[in-house]
Amino acid sequence: MPCVKFKYQDESCVYPKLINAVNIMCIAKGRNCLCTSGYRSVEKQRTIAKEVLAGNPGSHQREDGSVYSKNGECLAAAYGKSNHCYCIAMDICDSWFKLLENEELKKYGLVKPMSYEPWHVQLLEHTGLSLSQKEAIRDSVFKGVKKDMTVKEFQAVTGLAVDGIAGPKTKGKAQELVKVCQKILGNNFESAEETVRITQKNPEIWLEKLKTEQYFPDFVMNIVERMKGERL
Ligand SMILES: [Zn+2]
Repeated sequence: MPCVKFKYQDESCVYPKLINAVNIMCIAKGRNCLCTSGYRSVEKQRTIAKEVLAGNPGSHQREDGSVYSKNGECLAAAYGKSNHCYCIAMDICDSWFKLLENEELKKYGLVKPMSYEPWHVQLLEHTGLSLSQKEAIRDSVFKGVKKDMTVKEFQAVTGLAVDGIAGPKTKGKAQELVKVCQKILGNNFESAEETVRITQKNPEIWLEKLKTEQYFPDFVMNIVERMKGERL
């Protein structure tokens, strides 16, 4: 299945909906792509600024961390100013992607906000965010990385009334999402190992479990079976 991969694992902390939109686009186009820059910590920005300075003779760095060429062209954004610092931007340098116009990207909810950066993509819905909104998104992404989603959080992100009870509406929404997952991942898995390899971010953890936990392969295949039937 075509998808986006991250060149640097320390930059893969990106708003999940953005990654999903890029994956859906990859599937539609039948092509893989490589994200050469996703989330940037200030530390990472310092490293990048240093590299840009070294690679561009005559360039200089301002107090805010930004780097300018001798002609006054901005080569690196100020620390903390880039949308990459808020997990809402991805740089994809594959030539087929750079050729895509906004008219086409719109179909996937995506946009290239800067015409002079044909590799830089964001979600259309993230256009014109305030700094505090960006900070909230970044914090939610980092929170999401560390723990599983509760019923309340699921309700909040899917726009339902937040009561923490998995009633008919919540289950209905979950069913909708299962269909989206199926579209992205497919459900024609033949073995537990295949399922784990394709669907998990860190398959090595789970592949070990397949060997050591007696019921784990059956458990995985049960989920696959249930997804086929679109039941929960
Ligand atoms: Zn960018």
